[in-house]
Amino acid sequence: MKFCQGPDCHMHKTKDRIKGTKGSKTYQTRRRSKFYYGNGNFCDQRCLYDWIAQYIEQGLDHFGRTTQAKHLTQDNAWEKDYDWDWRSSTQSNWRYVNSITKEQRPLTEAQYNDTNYTLNINTGE
Ligand SMILES: [Zn+2]
Repeated sequence: MKFCQGPDCHMHKTKDRIKGTKGSKTYQTRRRSKFYYGNGNFCDQRCLYDWIAQYIEQGLDHFGRTTQAKHLTQDNAWEKDYDWDWRSSTQSNWRYVNSITKEQRPLTEAQYNDTNYTLNINTGE
């Protein structure tokens, strides 16, 4: 069981947040075995956005702000793709596609599924 990380979770007045013994009931932070928002840390979108509203400036200062435009060039435009056949529910034609040049390079299914596999662009593989 873990607690929702929303800083104001206990402020959102819903019946399921009322806990405690008769005469001393309070609205409390939600506690569940599993949450589905914000990487499993928040009970709902409202609590996730409460957290963002409170901590976004600190987060940007800590992890670094984008201070100049990033560029998508043909060197970092490679994306994995495959064809999907709806009738047989099968994949085929795994490939890297360059979204700038439209160049394609074939992949095996294992290479597609390997999140560490990348094209070695510098050697022109
Ligand atoms: Zn919450």
